[in-house]
Amino acid sequence: MSEGIKIKIGLEIHVQITSLRTKLFCPCSSDYRGKPPNSNVCPVCLGLPGALPVVNKEAVREALKVALALNSRISNMLVFTRKHYFYPDLPKNYQISQYDGVGSLPIAKGGYIKIEDDSLSKVVRIRRINIEEDPGRITYPTGSMVTSPYTLIDYNRSGIALLEIVTEPDLESPREARIFIDKLTSILEHLGVTNPELEGAVRVDANISIEGGERVEIKNIGSPKEVEKALQYEIARQTAIVKSGGKVARETRHWDKNRGVTISSRAKELEEDYRYFPDPDLPPIPITNELIDEVRRSLPELPNERIKRFMSEYKLSRYLAHVIVIRSKVLADAFESAVRKCGNADTIASILVNELLRWVDECHFTIEEGLARLTAERLCKLVQYLKERKLSSKLVKEYVRRVVIEDIDPDELITKGYVSIMDFGYLSNIVDEVFRENPKAVEDAKKNPKAINYLVGQVMKKTKGKADPQITYELIVRRLRENAS
Ligand SMILES: [Zn+2]
Repeated sequence: MSEGIKIKIGLEIHVQITSLRTKLFCPCSSDYRGKPPNSNVCPVCLGLPGALPVVNKEAVREALKVALALNSRISNMLVFTRKHYFYPDLPKNYQISQYDGVGSLPIAKGGYIKIEDDSLSKVVRIRRINIEEDPGRITYPTGSMVTSPYTLIDYNRSGIALLEIVTEPDLESPREARIFIDKLTSILEHLGVTNPELEGAVRVDANISIEGGERVEIKNIGSPKEVEKALQYEIARQTAIVKSGGKVARETRHWDKNRGVTISSRAKELEEDYRYFPDPDLPPIPITNELIDEVRRSLPELPNERIKRFMSEYKLSRYLAHVIVIRSKVLADAFESAVRKCGNADTIASILVNELLRWVDECHFTIEEGLARLTAERLCKLVQYLKERKLSSKLVKEYVRRVVIEDIDPDELITKGYVSIMDFGYLSNIVDEVFRENPKAVEDAKKNPKAINYLVGQVMKKTKGKADPQITYELIVRRLRENAS
């Protein structure tokens, strides 16, 4: 799509610090989801006159964890800045944030994340990390800003602690952007800072420019997959403008995921439009080396170390280790607890990666929901039956599908007679049938051993996948030999 055109993408990722019990500057609960609108508020997060913010020290510790994990330089002062703009989700008309400029500074600057894939290995630089407050939540009754006759605002989310993590424009494709976000969220999940499965916990603004055009910002994209789609759309749109001799305007656009398009929302503000100045309600607080050292000592095992350990301790392939750890900490934890229970790391890893993830994605379950059904106990039963050859590997796949979708125990499927057929006599009859019905395939198989698989497949089809593949294969080979002589 974008062959030969140079693309620059930078990301601003807003991550809610979901590990906190209260909001960033007030004692309101951080657990705002599912509450009646505007019930989780107080004078501070509603921005009423005279209300005074008090910084949540735990939020600062969480931000320091992230800064250390991303190899960033931590500032020696914590300074909060007012960022002014008028929007209905912001009751004070300014957001308490941080700013990299005169009289102010972000909690950390610099740093990097290394991203990897089969064909990719690159270092993406971090520009800065800010702590700031989340605005309220805007709902459009028809789902679209353009078609809704009115807008609803809920301030329950107003004042939730956010980290804003800004990258340099080092990313060069939508795919790289998605891989970066997956890696970052995996790090944050391992740090215990955020639960990325919560709705709205990770939101992304993406800046994108193509050669010869201005920078366009796409606001508020909800998930890594959506980021990839929005960027693909933008590249196609901008490329078409440049190719037809037009000029891409510098602007802010909005991703409409229902329609799969970006829509122009406003001309981009310049930094000076925000009238940044240090918040007089929040005097600067020193960030001491003692505090930084203490936080450093509390850092848990991070994804890169964990992938390496999975490869050495459990002898997993790089691919399996990478998918398990980066896809979700919850998945990696489930893998380890199943292996502790019944060993067979490789089998468990492939069931999780190839089967569980497939059905979780297909059914739009969270990984937690999938794992609540495919528990360590059930996983271990499947591994055991596979070893005993009670179940073929093909049947195990079918079992995982039914366990995840129907929440059924493997033993219940077994008592329903859902097991591998290992009965020689029975299978022998089916092989006879298949030979009669497929004379041409039989002739092929005599000359070319690879064609035997087709015949095995036919037996599988007749037995709905229940035939033991090893026995079936042996029976077919024997029958071919008899036929030849
Ligand atoms: Zn409040």
